[in-house]
Amino acid sequence: MIEKLVKNVLDTLAGLGDSEKVALFHVLENQCAGELAGGFNTGNFIGTGKIFDFQDSPLQEVLNSKQPMTFHGQLIDDVPFPSYQETHSSFECLCLPLLGEETDVIGIAVIAQPMGITQPDYRLRTLNMLRTLIAAAMENARLFQLATTDSLTGLYVRRYFDIRLHEESVRLRRHGGTLALLLMDIDFFKQVNDTYGHPIGDDVLKDLAQLLLECTRQDFDLPCRFGGEEFIILLPQTNLEGALVLAERIRKRCEQHPFAASQLAQALRVTVSIGISTMEQATWMPTEHLIQQADEMLYAAKQAGRNQIFYPQSVSPSVS
Ligand code: GH3
Ligand code: MG
Ligand code: MG
Repeated sequence: MIEKLVKNVLDTLAGLGDSEKVALFHVLENQCAGELAGGFNTGNFIGTGKIFDFQDSPLQEVLNSKQPMTFHGQLIDDVPFPSYQETHSSFECLCLPLLGEETDVIGIAVIAQPMGITQPDYRLRTLNMLRTLIAAAMENARLFQLATTDSLTGLYVRRYFDIRLHEESVRLRRHGGTLALLLMDIDFFKQVNDTYGHPIGDDVLKDLAQLLLECTRQDFDLPCRFGGEEFIILLPQTNLEGALVLAERIRKRCEQHPFAASQLAQALRVTVSIGISTMEQATWMPTEHLIQQADEMLYAAKQAGRNQIFYPQSVSPSVS
């Protein structure tokens, strides 16, 4: 969601600024550094997350003045970045501070432009107007992310899962298709906490979340932290066969994964039990029932000895 927004913003800035190199920084709370939200260099998207120190750099001045400014240009790790010193590069950097609601600078856009060419007035005015809109969009995206993602694992939270499940359920009822849920719970997780301590328990949860992200289709499946040590995955357009394949992949990967490996000398083994529920148009049921069915299957998997996958026997994997 945020990545899409950043790409749109970069595209817009590159188009309006008639530039091939742009970067967008998210200003960190200490107001001394920025995290690269994303950049474009000649058509290539540059990854996110790298921290840039603003101290003693022109961006500190932009932060303080809250005004658009132009400096010499340089590339740092392929990212256009302003410089006080003359550089060998053929471009300058136009730096636009992005003002949040409290007139704090929440971000800075850096747009490379050919040396000595001043932007026409109308373009500067448009860019100037745009920076307020971009700041508002970035702030909204940040608040949305805060409200919908779990701070420990980075997965979506239950509230967001409920909304998305409801949407999928309405779509399925009207237009057909299939839908599956995988509800999983870590086996004997209390023992992990009791033996290794709560911080290691947290590391196990983080590892499992990462593993779920790796096993699922990005932008399609929705792995969420359901609560505590329970996770749920919403699988749109997936039948029981597909859900079983994924569940088995997750079960196996968990069984073999060395959890909290960076913290412990000896690899910690953890298993999960998984309950599956599915529906299609003919078997449509309210979302609470679908979740309840997955929960009953999870309970059955626990009763049967854990590290297992259960699904309703009324559904046959080969038919759906
Ligand atoms: P079972 O196989 O039946 O699921 O056994 P279990 O020990 O996993 O089940 P139980 O429900 O007794 O224990 C769940 C534990 O999960 C207890 C709780 O402290 C722990 N837990 C829940 N949330 C967190 C968390 O955010 N961090 C850590 N470290 N532990 C958590
Ligand atoms: Mg539990
Ligand atoms: Mg458990």
